[in-house]
Amino acid sequence: MMSSFQNSSGKDTEIITQFEKNYQEIQLAINSAAACAGRDPDEVLLVAVSKAVGIPEIETAIKAGISDFGENRTHSLREKQNLLPSKRWHYIGHIQTNKLKDLVGRAHLIHSVASLRALNAISRLAEQQEINQKILIEVNVSGEESKDGLAPSELPNFLEAASTTQNIEVKGFMTMAPLLESAEDKTARQCFAALRELRDNLVPIFAGAENISLNELSMGMSGDFSDAIQEGATIVRIGRRLWS
Ligand SMILES: *Cc1c(COP(=O)(O)O)cnc(C)c1O
Repeated sequence: MMSSFQNSSGKDTEIITQFEKNYQEIQLAINSAAACAGRDPDEVLLVAVSKAVGIPEIETAIKAGISDFGENRTHSLREKQNLLPSKRWHYIGHIQTNKLKDLVGRAHLIHSVASLRALNAISRLAEQQEINQKILIEVNVSGEESKDGLAPSELPNFLEAASTTQNIEVKGFMTMAPLLESAEDKTARQCFAALRELRDNLVPIFAGAENISLNELSMGMSGDFSDAIQEGATIVRIGRRLWS
């Protein structure tokens, strides 16, 4: 693996090889985190967060076998989805209601729904297009003021409202953990465990709601995805570790 990297002559080869090396390392880390938790690694979807790269880098990732990409700007998602419409595009950024028309129908999954206003706007746009839009609800588990997301205590009422909202399918929850202070820092892991417990407690309450299934937990980024997988993540969102 190393020798092919060192021997590479052209710049393209170098980029491809470095990407493939990163991707292989991440796949190994996903497999071992899943094994630690007695989980099947196929239950974990890698969303390649492509917000800092362009189409050539994304095409390299596609060649390596990646099919899900995450963007945090509506205009970037729209442009990249237009060029590569057969891939699945995930919206992971803050939602501005007036920009949702770029996302609904284009985003495979909107991870960051955190207000009734956004929920209702997505519903209206999806209804116009005669589609169901898949969404996740963003939860601010850590309670940090700087973070988007609903408080855990707001989830029952929000899900109640979502259960009667047309053209919406709620697939689960998304969260962002606090940044790790050190290798021994357990706050990220505790935050992931707390989201899984919240989900487990809400599942029976909303078992009868046709448009709500809470199977997906989108949690874990470059620095903390192993912890997230051990606590039940079904989607990890990784940018820097793939592309640096
Ligand atoms: C940028 C971003 C990521 C990826 O973070 P990395 O540290 O680059 O892996 C994941 N989730 C969200 C919401 C992001 O904005």
